[in-house]
Amino acid sequence: MKKCAVGVDLGGTNIRAVLADDDGKMGPRLHEETCAEKGPEHVANKIADLVQQLVAQAANTCEIVGIGIGSPGPLSRKRKMIFQTPNLPGFENYPLGQRVEDMCGIPVSLDNDGNCAAHGEHMFGVARGVKEFFMLTIGTGIGGGIFSKDKMIHGKSDGAAEIGHLCLYPGGIKCNCGRTGCFEQYCSATAIERRAAKALNKKTTVPELFWAHEAGNQDASKCLEEVAQDFSIGLGSLINLLEPEMIVMGGGAFSTGGGPLIPMITERLVGQAFPSSLADLKIVSGKLRGNSGVLGAAALAFKQRAKLEEPLIASQSVR
Ligand SMILES: [Zn+2]
Repeated sequence: MKKCAVGVDLGGTNIRAVLADDDGKMGPRLHEETCAEKGPEHVANKIADLVQQLVAQAANTCEIVGIGIGSPGPLSRKRKMIFQTPNLPGFENYPLGQRVEDMCGIPVSLDNDGNCAAHGEHMFGVARGVKEFFMLTIGTGIGGGIFSKDKMIHGKSDGAAEIGHLCLYPGGIKCNCGRTGCFEQYCSATAIERRAAKALNKKTTVPELFWAHEAGNQDASKCLEEVAQDFSIGLGSLINLLEPEMIVMGGGAFSTGGGPLIPMITERLVGQAFPSSLADLKIVSGKLRGNSGVLGAAALAFKQRAKLEEPLIASQSVR
């Protein structure tokens, strides 16, 4: 019987859930408003309800190996617990993964959404077979996931790969994290839109900025060049640290592809990292686009089941 996993993408606005097989082929998709203000228990119940609907629809057609949940962080994978997150008020030390596991009777793996996106591209997308890469998810902030030797880097307590909070400009723009000059204050989709609005004197989305540049608008081009320069500083530091084979750019800002930005960044990386590290480096848009959240969460569940991620003590004790 075909093996399937449920992937759940928990966002501040919506919860999305999908049943996917181990080739990344998706079955039914469901979504609900998060309504985080009603509290974590309400959200856990909603997730369990979506999962149970998908499981019922899949009855006898596939074997469900697990549930993956991608959530805003910081969190503990081992304790399946969300510590706190500005997008989900009231989630303080809340064991979301364990609650859903208890309600559904299916093993749950929890990780942050940036890591899940990287798992998704590694298992189903553009980074299949790539052992050394990192991914940026460029949306409201910048999230990410880092793979080295074919394994994700988590750090000592699951807090690694906070790429958005790399310091680009000490003393620069104040960040939600309490520091100043963070990467995401210059290069997240929100930041790019803020810069574009200033350059073009009107509300401008990231794709609109790309189109304006391609149509020859010089203010748009100058704005994009400045954004690309800031990207090259952040990515240059990461390349010097990790020397990847590939950098995957995803998230809302890249939902229609990278437009002109990737070649502009590539050009500006010269001088930001050693030529030997830049040689053969591929910088690409993610392949999973709008399905990155749910497919990434499903990939997490498959990997946990296959023990490609290290075993989690809590889930072992219940089986
Ligand atoms: Zn920050």
